[in-house]
Amino acid sequence: MSENYQKWIENNRDFLIEISDKIWEFAETGFQEFKSSKLLADTLEDYDFKVFRGVAEMPTAFYATYGNGKPVIAILGEYDALPGLSQVAEPIRNPIIQDAPGHGCGHNLLGVGSLGAVIAVKQALDDGIANGTIRYYGCPAEEIFNAKGYMVKHGLFEDVDISLTWHPSFLNMINLMSTLAMNSVVFRFHGQTAHAAADPQNGRSALDAVELMDIGANYLREHIIPDARLHYVITNGGKAPNIVPDEAEVWYFVRAPERHQVDHLYERLIKIGKGAELMTETQMEIDFLSASYNTKFNSVVQEVVYLNLKKVGPPNFKSKEKQFAKELSKTLSENSIEGYLRFVPSEYMDLAKAVLSQPLNKIIVPPIGEGAVEPGSTDVADVSWVTPLAEFNTACEVIGSPGHSWQNVATGGMEIGHKGMLAAARVLALSALDFMRNPDLVEKAWRQFEKDHQDKKYSFPFPKDQKPLFNKLKEVNYMLE
Ligand SMILES: [Zn+2]
Repeated sequence: MSENYQKWIENNRDFLIEISDKIWEFAETGFQEFKSSKLLADTLEDYDFKVFRGVAEMPTAFYATYGNGKPVIAILGEYDALPGLSQVAEPIRNPIIQDAPGHGCGHNLLGVGSLGAVIAVKQALDDGIANGTIRYYGCPAEEIFNAKGYMVKHGLFEDVDISLTWHPSFLNMINLMSTLAMNSVVFRFHGQTAHAAADPQNGRSALDAVELMDIGANYLREHIIPDARLHYVITNGGKAPNIVPDEAEVWYFVRAPERHQVDHLYERLIKIGKGAELMTETQMEIDFLSASYNTKFNSVVQEVVYLNLKKVGPPNFKSKEKQFAKELSKTLSENSIEGYLRFVPSEYMDLAKAVLSQPLNKIIVPPIGEGAVEPGSTDVADVSWVTPLAEFNTACEVIGSPGHSWQNVATGGMEIGHKGMLAAARVLALSALDFMRNPDLVEKAWRQFEKDHQDKKYSFPFPKDQKPLFNKLKEVNYMLE
């Protein structure tokens, strides 16, 4: 009886795969995940979890809790898809529906791997071999918004002792690299329209303001820290050359390795916007879309997860999957792995090249990347600032497959993704149980957390009374990563 939980994932393999495939088919983008979040929440309710839906001001956010008392272990799940990536589970480009969304970041697997883990832990609690509370956090819209930051703001992590998460990848590894803190903001200028030839003197061009702001930002670039990133697109530049644009807007990302660096850079960018406003006699309006922290992983939690990753081992891919991977590899660019090698220390270079030359990852990659910053952003970061947290990857994709690609949609809907997901569920469940059965480990993780955060405290990175701008976010369909 005592190790029933170990078998739960294996015995419910088909059940978990079925849920993952349904979410893969729903392929709902950020804040539209009504069917996906309902399916996950309903399943947890069927397993006697107490479910809280529509939490933290977001209709598709929820959390589900089971058990009593300490420790409280949180496992994070995501389930949003990406626009335009619809694809059948085949190794050649073939959309199910042209231009429809698809799970190009594997969040169907992410959501269900975490679901399998919390139900397995529930079985262990029922068997009386561990004590505490297991929680599933249904985190929507990861691609477009910092939903987890809103969940933190609403106090949903206040009593959490340890947080665990994972992400589909083409490698089996513990994730050591930090990510960039960021702001995503739209600057909209309002001017005065006029006939551009007949009476230009009466026009006040909003597009001029956008262009002058961008010029200012490009000069600013010379005087920022080298690791910061500033990128923009003009999302509205007016309608026709003979009409002075009375409205124009530009959308910026500001990113840097630390949150305070983003705050500082953002203040300078606002000054530039105000300068453009003054120069053009227009009015500036700001839509603050999203903001997140840099991740700060906890080394104690990482160690527990890494040991379990080794215990579970890599997904066991069979010849059918290998054949699929080989076919899919042919669609990738020859340079697709080069970018990854720059994070590899020289002593691991030969191993890295050997691993990356295969179509599928068959080993647990040693922990590398400590101290490096991955040039992207995620809202997992905000949770890592309020609880000890670790994240790992399992191989659910073909080596070299780019993030947010149709290739990832293809593998996420067949055995390669399924096997990676089930391995992740096991690692999460074993890690959660390690903390439940060893209170000392929880304490040790918190001591490390205090040390990592002693001079820096989390504060919600959005303007204080900011509401999630659902409509604006859907319209721009931007990527946080
Ligand atoms: Zn993702």
